[in-house]
Amino acid sequence: MPLTSDQYLRYARHLSLPEFGEKGQEKLLKSSILLIGAGGLGSPLALYLAAAGVGRLGIMDFDVVDVSNLQRQIIHRTQDVGTSKAKSAKRGVNDLNPGCQVDIYEEGITSANALELIAKYDIVIDGTDNFPTRYLVNDACVMLNKVNIYGSIYRFEGQATVFDTRKNAEGKRNGPCYRCLYPEPPPPGEVPSCAEGGVLGVLPGIIAMIQATEAIKVLTGMGRTLAGRFVRYDAMNMSFRELKLRPDPTCPVCSANPTVTKLIDYQQFCGMSRGGESAMSTENLEISPTDYAAIRESGKEHLLLDVREPFELGICQIEGNMNIPLGQLPNRLSEIANWKNGLVIAQCKSGRRSMKALETLKKHGFTNVLNLQGGILAYGEEVDPSISAY
Ligand SMILES: [Zn+2]
Repeated sequence: MPLTSDQYLRYARHLSLPEFGEKGQEKLLKSSILLIGAGGLGSPLALYLAAAGVGRLGIMDFDVVDVSNLQRQIIHRTQDVGTSKAKSAKRGVNDLNPGCQVDIYEEGITSANALELIAKYDIVIDGTDNFPTRYLVNDACVMLNKVNIYGSIYRFEGQATVFDTRKNAEGKRNGPCYRCLYPEPPPPGEVPSCAEGGVLGVLPGIIAMIQATEAIKVLTGMGRTLAGRFVRYDAMNMSFRELKLRPDPTCPVCSANPTVTKLIDYQQFCGMSRGGESAMSTENLEISPTDYAAIRESGKEHLLLDVREPFELGICQIEGNMNIPLGQLPNRLSEIANWKNGLVIAQCKSGRRSMKALETLKKHGFTNVLNLQGGILAYGEEVDPSISAY
């Protein structure tokens, strides 16, 4: 459909971009995006995407506006305190661009409603900060062949990527999914939320604008997206870093032989207790970060086995480690066979994956193995402040 004269005026600055032009604007006007959450990320996303001319926005949020939201959730106003965030966001979008159709959902996303809901939109932007939702949205997007644009924020740092698991002409996926990066949810309560840890008010604006840019690129087919790349932003140093991501060939949802083929109970998946997961007692198998620092200091010979994914090492690592991701460990034991009787200290982000690694090592005859308690996060907190948390 050709643009109307109002649309020619409104989108004039897009139309004068030869890479974008009328074709790009028409594509945007025909497209739809589901925004999960109308909070720190969702607020600027909704405003800018509506301004840019995305035809239809789904805005999902079960919460009401609180006065403490206004420091960053810029779609809501002081007079909206106490009203539904979804309704307030719809008002904000339509004040800015009455031509944008807004569907609101004043509920949370669940395994029961996710597939039906996501199927109605071209792409999904997850602006929530809880792990059950992240895994749920990821799995549903992979199953429905939808692009999921990821962003997260905490204190002064943010991250963004595009999970585009659609297949190209050769049948290869464009990039990995969230589970390829984070095969295991963190132990409940281990990762503090923005409510506990705080967040710089302007930070979500930057990350949301990366997400909005990527959404527009995916919808119009312009440029090179962040699929397979992960951007980390540090406001304190005003620095951006890019890490490469690879699909996990053993990923339970996006690999050639998936084991998760329908939505599961994500609360349960993310709430599994440590004890229930590991058959081993952790007693006498853990070493505290300070005790481990003493071992390093003493020069005692040992193997530090980091079982995280390679991109996580790009964020931070303890010097001298050997990296074998947990999923690859059973097939790569020969590489560390000469450590069977030596001291092996396994380490991951929080100590949970490395505890699983210990089970594998013990089963294969490694006699002197320890788990770094609390992982690299605890080590960073207690021993080496130069290690950046994530
Ligand atoms: Zn995957």
